[in-house]
Amino acid sequence: MFIGHYGPAVWDTQRGHGLPLLTLWQGFVAVQAMDFTAGALTVFGLEGTHIVNDAPFLHIPWSHSLLGALIIAVLTGLIFKALKPSIGKKGFWVVALLAFSHWPLDLLVHRPDLPLYPGGDYMMGLSLWDFAWPSYLAEAILLGGALVWWLKVTEGPKWTAIATAGLFLFMCALHFMAITMVTLQVQAGSFDPASQPQGSAAGVVMISVLLILTLLIALIERKRVSKFSPQNRA
Ligand SMILES: [Zn+2]
Repeated sequence: MFIGHYGPAVWDTQRGHGLPLLTLWQGFVAVQAMDFTAGALTVFGLEGTHIVNDAPFLHIPWSHSLLGALIIAVLTGLIFKALKPSIGKKGFWVVALLAFSHWPLDLLVHRPDLPLYPGGDYMMGLSLWDFAWPSYLAEAILLGGALVWWLKVTEGPKWTAIATAGLFLFMCALHFMAITMVTLQVQAGSFDPASQPQGSAAGVVMISVLLILTLLIALIERKRVSKFSPQNRA
């Protein structure tokens, strides 16, 4: 999954009925902790994309095995809590669950490339990405629904709502290019592996995209406050 991962990012046990523990950009980082890890490991050549039967096959045993996902979730929770102690024990669990949400969502869409533990032979993945258009629509709905709800439980100038819609369209376009178009090309037999970023560059691209999306939502979020913020109650 790519843009669909950002659906759960709006989830916060407080958001919608109290002052949120996390900002949305922090949620954006948490839900992609596994892909940030995959990007970093790709830079160092420990993970990456292999071409198998003329189709890209993800080699992501460390960042995307079930065991790896659990470890990354706990570490992400601990790092957030160390950097932002005010989130408390509850915040740790919120962050850890957001980070772990990545794995079951990937399980739905990935072709079988998710092992139980690094090096394990048993690969999991329900391959919904093979249904290129329905899976694209499902991920867009997951992201779009979450952003609409976020706009409802926050307040800000009108441009921030327009910018959020623009960010949504930008993310849909990115998803189409990175995932849907590649699937359609593989299915049509016209996929050219050379069209994709190679080796370490693929990791750099991946991390850059995740950082840019985080930065964009952070810029929008600066001008939107929770409906439960103290400045809003006055
Ligand atoms: Zn992933």
